[in-house]
Amino acid sequence: MKKITIAIDGFSSSGKSTMAKQLAKKIGYVYVDSGAMYRATTLYALRHGMTSKDSGVDTTSLIAALPDIHISFIIAPDETQHTLLNGEDVEKEIRGMEVSGWVSPVAVIPEVRHYLVELQQQYGKDKGIVMDGRDIGTTVFPDAEMKVFVQASPEVRAKRRFDELIEKGTPSDFEAVLANIKERDHIDTTRKESPLRKAEDAFVLDNDRMSRDEQMEVLLKLFEEKTRG
Ligand code: C5P
Repeated sequence: MKKITIAIDGFSSSGKSTMAKQLAKKIGYVYVDSGAMYRATTLYALRHGMTSKDSGVDTTSLIAALPDIHISFIIAPDETQHTLLNGEDVEKEIRGMEVSGWVSPVAVIPEVRHYLVELQQQYGKDKGIVMDGRDIGTTVFPDAEMKVFVQASPEVRAKRRFDELIEKGTPSDFEAVLANIKERDHIDTTRKESPLRKAEDAFVLDNDRMSRDEQMEVLLKLFEEKTRG
């Protein structure tokens, strides 16, 4: 069967990562979480004092540091994918509220985007990949054979994120999680450089009221259509 490229885009906490991971596992494709790359870059900026409440992100320093930021992925013994920043497993730290609060301002910086998009394209050069993010179907892989745009209401997404944080042992305030989701939606959709938007040829999956199994059924059907013949 011919290998294709699968781009899954959508809003924060729309469930796209879980969906993309499951799909990749089912069809034996590589999975890449592009959001984790923006998160790891943000963690680097935070650790190196490149953020301040008053003046925002120190863009000049972060751009100069890009060649020192190496991001990769490993499969942990429990079979989950972990993100490495310069060889260190930062999977837990990049999911916390501090990184979530800074990641969208970091992701608006064009040089950061160019650097990470190039890396993402390298990952996808042999196809057989499922990548999720905000601009995968529009900018990273505009020629992807299968594009999915996932959407759900901010409240449903905040509830999912809230439950996920509890599960990971970092309980948070629901209102703060909802506010963060709305703020990221705003920054992600209004930024100049590759804003979050549906690719014209993307299939829209509104999963407010869909179970994981129902979503997977839709994705597998789509995959079958795209790889047939
Ligand atoms: O997917 P996740 O919520 O982990 O992504 C974190 C943030 O990274 C997003 O809110 C967005 O600002 C940024 N991002 C992006 N482009 C991508 C993936 C993520 O700008 N392809």
